[in-house]
Amino acid sequence: MSDNHYDYIIAGAGAAGLSLALRLASKPFANKQVLLLDRSAKRENDRTWCFWEKGTGMYDEAVYRSWENVKFHGPNSSLDLRMAPYRYKMLRGLDFYDYALDKLQASANVVVKKAEIYDIGLSGEDAEVNTSEGSFTAPWVFSSLLGNEEIHDAKKRLFLWQHFLGWHIRSEEPLFDPNQPVFMDFRVPQTDGSCFVYVLPLSRFEALVEYTVFSPEVWEKEVYEQATREYLRMFYKLTDFDILHVEQGRIPMSSYKFPVNEGRVVFIGTAGGQTKASTGYTFMNIQRHSDAIVERLMDGQSPIVPRSAWQRRFSLYDNTLLHVLVHQQMRGADLFETLFLKNPAARMFDFLDDQSHFLQELAIMNSVPRRKFAKAFFKELL
Ligand SMILES: Cc1cc2nc3c(=O)[nH]c(=O)nc-3n(C[C@H](O)[C@H](O)[C@H](O)COP(=O)(O)OP(=O)(O)OC[C@H]3O[C@@H](n4cnc5c(N)ncnc54)[C@H](O)[C@@H]3O)c2cc1C
Repeated sequence: MSDNHYDYIIAGAGAAGLSLALRLASKPFANKQVLLLDRSAKRENDRTWCFWEKGTGMYDEAVYRSWENVKFHGPNSSLDLRMAPYRYKMLRGLDFYDYALDKLQASANVVVKKAEIYDIGLSGEDAEVNTSEGSFTAPWVFSSLLGNEEIHDAKKRLFLWQHFLGWHIRSEEPLFDPNQPVFMDFRVPQTDGSCFVYVLPLSRFEALVEYTVFSPEVWEKEVYEQATREYLRMFYKLTDFDILHVEQGRIPMSSYKFPVNEGRVVFIGTAGGQTKASTGYTFMNIQRHSDAIVERLMDGQSPIVPRSAWQRRFSLYDNTLLHVLVHQQMRGADLFETLFLKNPAARMFDFLDDQSHFLQELAIMNSVPRRKFAKAFFKELL
């Protein structure tokens, strides 16, 4: 094998690239050479992942906090949601990058290289990745690079940005309950999209407070800042605090079907359609997709994971919810409040994680205004 030829190349060492690389660094792939490329050394704490998981998980060692219960505030009611059989987990970006890169550095078959990727194309039978550090080939390339063209295409379908600004703050007073994260707080103005805040308490004095919006356009930084200050003043009587860290981001929520592959280039992560259209949650889908890729490789199959009937069913539910939000048939605040008021928390968390079964889904469908949802459902079905 030449220096620049590998069995697998992973383009992008974010959540999806690292999740897949960790699996390819395991024993069954010991004789496969893997190249992982990213422009960044992944030394920044650029995001925080929240997700829920049953029992122990692959990244528990790196998980920063986890909780048994979460709080939900709708415009008219507040609920204590018991997560069981799940736990709500918080994984800081930098902790995950450190954990994964340490493991990969210790592996014998994965090479991590810092390089700007210019393009990914074909070279004979192989896929070829052209980078600032040269060209590399492999029979299969896994890419999490999300281009402007995909966003452009996604915008032609139902589309909203989930955009947010989060502050890790410290107050002088013990204002936060470390056992009680706020999963969604919709008691904020709903004037420009569906807006909610989540609060992850890190101690009695510190919390990550993230102002989140579902809307077609992202906001100027000052708008989130002002809204967050107002939220902290209203609900925590807090005006004086230190900001220890800022995170800002946006996630595309769309009914667009992101392509699964282009020849020998297999798309992973958000670029591979792993973002849930109705909520933006992606992390657990990435884990399931990585497992499916690896299982297929171990069975001697191609790593292109076809969309299952199961996934198509959940896409239909997601698109229905997104349809209702995009066309403002119901405010996000009222929709989520209705769903959490009328369904047990475990059913909702199964559903929001694409893990529910049909009877649970029927019960959920029965809990929302039937006419509005039936119309949206059949529009998306057709
Ligand atoms: C701030 C933030 C918070 C989020 N929170 C949650 C959450 O709580 N729960 C959840 O489920 N989802 C969350 N998401 C959504 C989703 O889980 C993340 O976006 C996740 O990181 C997606 O993984 P990915 O691998 O597709 O993309 P990324 O993690 O963005 O990885 C892509 C990688 O490609 C690299 N790259 C891009 N272009 C090039 C190039 N030309 N050359 C070389 N390298 C390149 C980048 O440096 C990056 O490392 C969040 C997203 C953001 C932005």
